[in-house]
Amino acid sequence: MSKGTPSKGKRSGKKTHVICRRCGQHTYHAQHKECASCGFGATKGIRRFSWQAKRKFGFMKGRNLSKLAQKSIRGRASSAKRKHNK
Ligand SMILES: [Zn+2]
Repeated sequence: MSKGTPSKGKRSGKKTHVICRRCGQHTYHAQHKECASCGFGATKGIRRFSWQAKRKFGFMKGRNLSKLAQKSIRGRASSAKRKHNK
């Protein structure tokens, strides 16, 4: 198999990265079981580099919790609606 367009068809329907449960970013590799952003699964500490000058390293800073929050809110809303209907 070549590296071009035909082989790219094999990737359809597969997720390489999913939402990381430590940093909340969409950088957790589903097959490698490690996060490209924070190193979850590969490192004990948070993956960080000194050349990341602009990035702040406070806890919860830079976390993208919106997607996770949306999911939980949706779940609550749907369950609440069901209860309300009864
Ligand atoms: Zn992560």
